[in-house]
Amino acid sequence: MADGSAIEWTDATWNPVTGCTQITRGCDNCYALRFAERFRGVPGHPFENGFDLTLRHSRLEQPLNWRRPRMIFVNSMSDLFHKSVPRSFVDRVFDTMEAADWHVFQLLSKRSSRMRDYLRTRYADRSAPLHIWHGVSVEEAKARSRIDHLRAAPAGVRFLSIEPLIAPVGELNLSGIHWVIVGGESGPGARAMDVEWVREIREQCQGQDVAFFFKQWGGIRPKTGGRELDGREWNELPIQVAA
Ligand code: SF4
Repeated sequence: MADGSAIEWTDATWNPVTGCTQITRGCDNCYALRFAERFRGVPGHPFENGFDLTLRHSRLEQPLNWRRPRMIFVNSMSDLFHKSVPRSFVDRVFDTMEAADWHVFQLLSKRSSRMRDYLRTRYADRSAPLHIWHGVSVEEAKARSRIDHLRAAPAGVRFLSIEPLIAPVGELNLSGIHWVIVGGESGPGARAMDVEWVREIREQCQGQDVAFFFKQWGGIRPKTGGRELDGREWNELPIQVAA
C-alpha cells in the first residue's frame, strides 16, 4: 500500500493484486504495465515478474492497519475482476474493505460484467456498503455498455472513470451514477483529448445532477497540460462524501 498518491481523486493506493492483460484500446498505453515491465528480471524487486498477474496475499489486510481514514484506490496496478483472480481471493479483498469501514475504497474495473455478477451474489439482498465505491472505465463510446453493467449491480456508490478519453463518448445515460472523472492520456505516445469531448461530458453531468471531476489534460507527463477546464478546476465528489 502506498500512502499518498499523485492521483488527484484519491489519497492512497492498495494493490492486493498486481499485473493484468490488455483488453481494450484504453489499455494501449497502460501506465501500470509500462511501470511494472521496467523491473522484470530484477531479483527481489516487487515487479521481478513484470506485469504478470500476481496475488499478493501478504497485502490483504493492509488497510486494517491504517487508522486514519482516507480514500483508497484499490488495485491501481491491476483489475480485481480479471478472470485469473479467483473468486475466493476477491472475497478476501471485500472482507477487508467491509471491515475497514472508516476508509472509502474506490474500486475501478474494465471487467464490468464480472464485477456486476460478483456484486449480485455478494449483495443479493442489499446494496454494497456506501464506503465501497464501484466504478468502470469508459474511454470511448463503444465502452458504454460497461455503464449498463455497473447500473445493474447493487453498488451503493457508482462512478465512471472516463480516462484516457480517446474519442467522444456521445450520449450518456447517467441514471444511478454518482460521480464522473474525466482525464486525458499521459506518457509516451499519449493520444490527444479534444476540449469539446470533455465539455460534452461535463454538460451531461450538470444536466443529470452528477458530480464531475476533471483530472488532467495529459501529455508526456500527467501534469503537463494542467487540469483547468474553461478557466477553473472541477473537483466535485459524490454527494455521499461531500455532505
Ligand atoms: S485493464 Fe487497466 S490495468 Fe489492465 S491492462 Fe488495461 S489499463 Fe492496464
